[in-house]
Amino acid sequence: MYKRVSLFACCLSVVLTLVCQACALPQGKNGSDRYVVVLSMDGFRADYPEKACTPTLDSLERVGVRADFRPCFPSVTFPNHYAMATGLYPDHNGLVNNAFYAADLDEVYSSRDGKAVANPAFYGGEPVWNTAQRQDVNTATFFWVGSETAVNGRQPSIWKPFDSKVPFKNRADSVIAWLQLPESIRPHLIMWYTEEPDATAHGASPDSPATIAMAEKLDSLLAYFFAEARKLDVFDKIDFIVLSDHGMATSYPERYVNLNDYLPRDSFDFIFDGVPTLLYTKESYRETAYQILQKIPRIKAYKKEELPERLMYGKRSRVGDLVIIPDIGTSVQFREQSSPRFGGNHGYDNAATEMQAIFYAAGPSFKKNTRIQTSIPNVNLYLLLTTLLNIEPSPNDGEQEQVQQLLK
Ligand SMILES: [Zn+2]
Repeated sequence: MYKRVSLFACCLSVVLTLVCQACALPQGKNGSDRYVVVLSMDGFRADYPEKACTPTLDSLERVGVRADFRPCFPSVTFPNHYAMATGLYPDHNGLVNNAFYAADLDEVYSSRDGKAVANPAFYGGEPVWNTAQRQDVNTATFFWVGSETAVNGRQPSIWKPFDSKVPFKNRADSVIAWLQLPESIRPHLIMWYTEEPDATAHGASPDSPATIAMAEKLDSLLAYFFAEARKLDVFDKIDFIVLSDHGMATSYPERYVNLNDYLPRDSFDFIFDGVPTLLYTKESYRETAYQILQKIPRIKAYKKEELPERLMYGKRSRVGDLVIIPDIGTSVQFREQSSPRFGGNHGYDNAATEMQAIFYAAGPSFKKNTRIQTSIPNVNLYLLLTTLLNIEPSPNDGEQEQVQQLLK
């Protein structure tokens, strides 16, 4: 019923006509007159555009390219945003989870710990804004993981410390304002971010009316943003990308697992529970813990060296020596008090349908009206951005063919 009402409203809405004069104009010969604007909408699952009324995203597909975007494992926010920024899998970029223990630094990283987030020692590789700045291309970020700290002593020309209180519209207005700065200081690469629909879906579950309504609200934000962008002198030179970092699965209380029911907490040096769970065992207990974990339903427990190769995960010392990947829909905690709840969660196997993310791109460089049939690993974003900006990439895990299939 909800969907029907939503579609009716959709029919009444004015479909955004992005069909650009842009496509008819000559492309720049080098990076200097090109612009790229990337928006990441956290947790925007690949199938939301089919479930919600998203006329702006639909029009982006008509005038550009759409693909499913495959997150890295673990399918959580910090490792994936930094993987997109560096073109490196989490094992290679150093951010192996939203929270982990780094033996090389003897420090704990947590996305909720401002001091750790600001410590450049956690961040490996070269974020694309640094690659660009090194080559005299100005960049700006409005919240992107890694841009709040000086990795290798560099940061974007403009960046912001994360503050969820900044309304999304203000973020959009800032991006538009930056594209009107004097040419000498105008950023040519802009990356911005919304923490929705992730937050709503965690609370209400991905298929809830609240989450679908949030997806539609974000589409309206996009409609506003593109309407403003069309007024810019440089509109015809901008390549736009709208993507997400991962999807979302419904979590069911009856599938909840509390490791505290099976394992003694004092046998571990560090525990980071959730999806996935990373355990750093005391050496003498490792085999016992591993054997016990094998008997617990609805989870898969691996010694880090035995993780499936396709996950590209576990070679780094920062990964716990035991890694637990729950089945879709199962949440895992290691707590004195169990707190099973209904809602949404992610971090699962990155091949799971529910974890797939969105990728839309439109502008002078991209093919038109094209749906890519295979899903694109998100580490290719770095190589795509350096290609669009015509700058020299640093070593990365992207593949040129993956990038090329999107371009004219
Ligand atoms: Zn989330």
